[in-house]
Amino acid sequence: MVSEKMKPFMKNNSAIRAMFEEGKRMAAVYGKENVYDFSLGNPNVPVPAVNEAIRAVLSEESFNVLHGYMSNAGFEDVRQTIADSLNQRFGTAFSQKNVLMTVGAASGLNVILKSILNPGDEVIVFAPYFVEYDGYVRNYDGKVVVISPDTETFMPKLAEFEAKLSPKTKAVIINNPNNPTGVVYSEDTIRALAAVMEKKQNEYGSSITLISDEPYRELAYGGIRVPFVTKYYANSVVCYSYSKSLSVPGERIGYLVIPDEMEESETLLSAAVIANRVLGCVNAPSLIQKVIQYCIRHDVTVDLAAYEKNRNLLYSALMEYGFSCAKPDGAFYMFVKSPVEDEKEFCETAKKHHVLFVPGSSFACPGYVRIAYCVSYEQIERSLPAFREIAGEYGLIG
Ligand code: PLP
Repeated sequence: MVSEKMKPFMKNNSAIRAMFEEGKRMAAVYGKENVYDFSLGNPNVPVPAVNEAIRAVLSEESFNVLHGYMSNAGFEDVRQTIADSLNQRFGTAFSQKNVLMTVGAASGLNVILKSILNPGDEVIVFAPYFVEYDGYVRNYDGKVVVISPDTETFMPKLAEFEAKLSPKTKAVIINNPNNPTGVVYSEDTIRALAAVMEKKQNEYGSSITLISDEPYRELAYGGIRVPFVTKYYANSVVCYSYSKSLSVPGERIGYLVIPDEMEESETLLSAAVIANRVLGCVNAPSLIQKVIQYCIRHDVTVDLAAYEKNRNLLYSALMEYGFSCAKPDGAFYMFVKSPVEDEKEFCETAKKHHVLFVPGSSFACPGYVRIAYCVSYEQIERSLPAFREIAGEYGLIG
């Protein structure tokens, strides 16, 4: 019954989800307050103004506009509001036609990959990476090519990148700020990636699309700026989502930006709109599109300080206990070095202390674990003795 193409997806079904289910099971046995689940990137900081926006939109918009069919790219006025907001923040010159509303970043990535990939085309990713990319690329019979991790900094290894770009490379996916490491690629890093790609485009005479997956764009701490890639490399597509920045992952809303500077941008824009339809999304959900517009107009944002406070507490405690980790400047993840080679063993040990996190092999980077600190500050405080005990078990502290 199940297709051959589907079977590998089922085999690799997410370890993150498995850990989340385990957390729920443990909470039922030991009590919720005694289980410290850091497995899932589910934002925990509510944004009550989103609910106000929903009420306002419901009372302001006509029923048929709000719930009817629309252009497959989304409401024009919503797309223009997004374009204006980007232009104001990043000095770009987009109009509504450059913006395509999507069913979250997951859908945006599928839309762009469906639009550009031919069977056998290669897509470069940098380990550690969000492994759902594997499935998305495989959907269109593409091939993922992985650049090995620089475990000191978790910045892209440029020499390996240059060596692995080939005439078959159709796209490169970056994720900034990064899941699972929390690092933020600087302007210099983006410029360096762009220079390598431009050189290869000229050499091969074919275009290479940079896909910047940015669901964590607004989650950057200490005033760090996340560069906007279209300013550094013409063949760039930005894939954005409100899942994390407005804490609404269940609403499934995001957008793609396809700039005029891209090669054949008009054709690509048309292809992407059609891809959105034939993939079955048809258009992004209508109510939440209008809600996003309202939120932009009213400067609604998540309380970034809440995540930063979590990061500071957990990071300083883990350093004190002898763990090692590149300091995360963004997103709500820490990628911590396992004290033993097999990080799955480390996860099992932590589980005995009721602490749950995800093995780095789930992000193509064994030897590390991802800790998602999008949990309450109190949970982090309560979990610290358990982290201390785990460190003690591995002799990291006296
Ligand atoms: N890309 C990355 C790096 C993610 O971490 C996630 C979700 O966790 C997604 C894409 C998918 O986001 P969305 O909920 O908008 O589909």
